[in-house]
Formats: sequence, C-alpha cells, structure tokens
Amino acid sequence: MRTLIKNIGQLVSGDLERPLLDADSVLIADGKFQTVGRGLDGDADIVIDAKGSTLIPGLIDSHCHPVFGDFTPRQRTMDFIESGLNGGLTTMISAGEVHLPGRPKDIVGLKALAIVAAKAYANLRPAGVKVHGGAPILELGLVEEDFAEMARAGVKLVGEIGLGSVKTGKDAAPMVRWAKKHGMTVTIHTGGPSIAGSNPISAEVVLEADPHVVGHINGGTTSMSEREIDSLVATSMALEIVHCGNGKTALHTLARATDARALRRIIIGNDAPSGTGVVPLGILRVIAHLASLGGLAPEAAVCMATGNTARVYGLPVGQVAAGREADCCIVDAPVGSVGRTALEALCAGDLFGISMVLIDGQIRIGRSRNTPPAARAAEVVKGQGPVGGAH
Ligand SMILES: [Zn+2]
Repeated sequence: MRTLIKNIGQLVSGDLERPLLDADSVLIADGKFQTVGRGLDGDADIVIDAKGSTLIPGLIDSHCHPVFGDFTPRQRTMDFIESGLNGGLTTMISAGEVHLPGRPKDIVGLKALAIVAAKAYANLRPAGVKVHGGAPILELGLVEEDFAEMARAGVKLVGEIGLGSVKTGKDAAPMVRWAKKHGMTVTIHTGGPSIAGSNPISAEVVLEADPHVVGHINGGTTSMSEREIDSLVATSMALEIVHCGNGKTALHTLARATDARALRRIIIGNDAPSGTGVVPLGILRVIAHLASLGGLAPEAAVCMATGNTARVYGLPVGQVAAGREADCCIVDAPVGSVGRTALEALCAGDLFGISMVLIDGQIRIGRSRNTPPAARAAEVVKGQGPVGGAH
C-alpha cells in the first residue's frame, strides 16, 4: 500500500536541527515514510493533494492521564482520545493512570494496574491513536525486583513521582535508578499539589531524584518559582511545558532554555484529563502560545511537540523522515486568520486548521471537527478518501 502526498507548501520535519525541509511531496509505503522530496510521482494507491498547505508530523502529548479505553472518569467524558485526534494528536504518553476509581496503592496492586494498562493500550488504539499506557505511581516499599517484574511484563514508563507516598529525593533516587536500569522512562510532578492530598515537589527533590523528564515544569497547575525553574534548565533533563499549567512560567522556561541553547530538551504535554478538563486542542494551544508570545519560530514549536518528545521516549514517530512511522497532519491557516499559512497563523496566535490526519499512512480523519476550518483543505484525488464526515 503506497500513498503519495503532493503539493505541500511547507513541510515541518519534527527535527529541531532542521525544522523545515526543502520538499513538496512525501511517499509513504507500508505505513512508513519512504521518500521525502520534490516533485515525487510514481505509482501510488492513494494520492492526496495538499493544495499548497503545510505537512507536520502527528502531534505527541507527552503528559496524558488515561485510564482504560477512551473514557476518563476524571471528567466523565467518552471519546476524549478520538477528540484529541481531531486536535492533531497521534501519540499520547501516560503520566500515570491516576484517575482509576479505587486506584490501588499497595505494591501488588500498583504493579498490576501498570501492567494491565500497558498491555490493554498495546492491544487497543482508540481512534487509531497510539496510547502508551502503564505508568506506575511510586509508593514506599517498592524494591528493584518490582521494577524488573514490571519491565518484563511490558511496562516502559514511570508516572509522575510525587502523586504517591514517594515524595522526597532520598526515597525517589534509588527507585529512579532501578527504573532506568530496567529501561523505563521516568517523569516527576513539580510545583504545588494538583489536588488536595497530593504533594508539592520542589526543584531540590527533582535534582536528587534525577528523572528523565521534569514533568510540567510550568506547573500542574501551580508552578515552581522562576529560580527553581532556572536550576532545572541548567541540567540535562527534558523540560516539559504543559497546557494545564502556568502560561507565564511556560514563557520563562522557554526564554531560559533559549539562553542555555537547550530547546531540544523542551517537550509539550497537555496534563489532561485533569481538573482543568479534557482539552483536545491543548498541545496546539501551547504551540501557538510559545510561537506568538514567546517569539519562538513556529516550526521549532511544532518540533517540541513531535521529534523532541519522540527522542526522549525512544518512539519511532515524531518526524517526517524515511523509515519513521507515517503519522502526520495536513494543516493550514484557519479561515479568517491574518496569517496566510499554518506557521504564520501560529505566529499571530491563531490555531491552525487541520484538514487531514494520517496514522501509519492511513487517513484517520479529513477536516477536523475541533479546529477552525483550514483555508485550504487537502483532498484525496486518487483512491479511497477518509471515511465519515467531519464537523
Ligand atoms: Zn502533576
């Protein structure tokens, strides 16, 4: 099965080192990008005309709180993942299945939950979205063999440290070492507690724990101080900016990371479902926030929500490049924007409109039912178009 996307006006690679590619067409074969170039033609089963609009990698949410399937008990919402697909999300990474009603906090129970969530989402892609679930919340009493057991059963993540009884650097540090040794990627809550009953986590705790990712460095929802943020920008950890956090310290983090030439360490998450709600356009809104108010090149902002996150989590997505899984969005300035292209619209603070999303080379949706309408909409000119209507 081969798919050709042609007449691409701008192509964002997802690679911050080279965010814009000199290319106008992409050939996809067997679910992977095969060739990216100019004037590509050839024998494809499906041909998509991008009408001069913009191609970007599918967006990755680095901080999601799923439970099972496409339902969230937190806001009692069905199909929030499918709604995220309509916001350009093709991959979501769990920061902990914390909203399971009656979530077990004993060691056997928390391991069981992580293993079931990892396996269930490995068996299920809601609306086609690649959900990486199974992110245990660390509790006192875990030993190295527990991490080894979870890793053998397919657990690759550790959820936000601090949401359980492990909340000091001293308690967290050995567990983080065990998790890393067994191949897990580790994140940590930072800032004030998200709800009554959980704990504040300071920069000092993060430095001692030494996870891979500084979770919601701009707060989830209450931010650390700017001084604490500065001390974490000065490390080699990934710096996660989330939608459901503090918009002011998001910009502070961006400015400090720019000074430190550390933009490749910034990743973008939603931190939803949460008390803030279900936010299908959350990642897109952070991209527009950083590009319009933070002075960041819009293509660089897109890379923070795609290639940067894929690198931190070791996922074969997030870039339009030969060999990568062909997850991508065709986008344009929304009707009525002062911007003429998707990237100009982001600079102006507008969200782009999505006219098509592909996952593994398969068209999952046409016009998004959540974004404003793209001025120029991609069209299938050969083969089977997207099934079902939008709007
Ligand atoms: Zn948190």
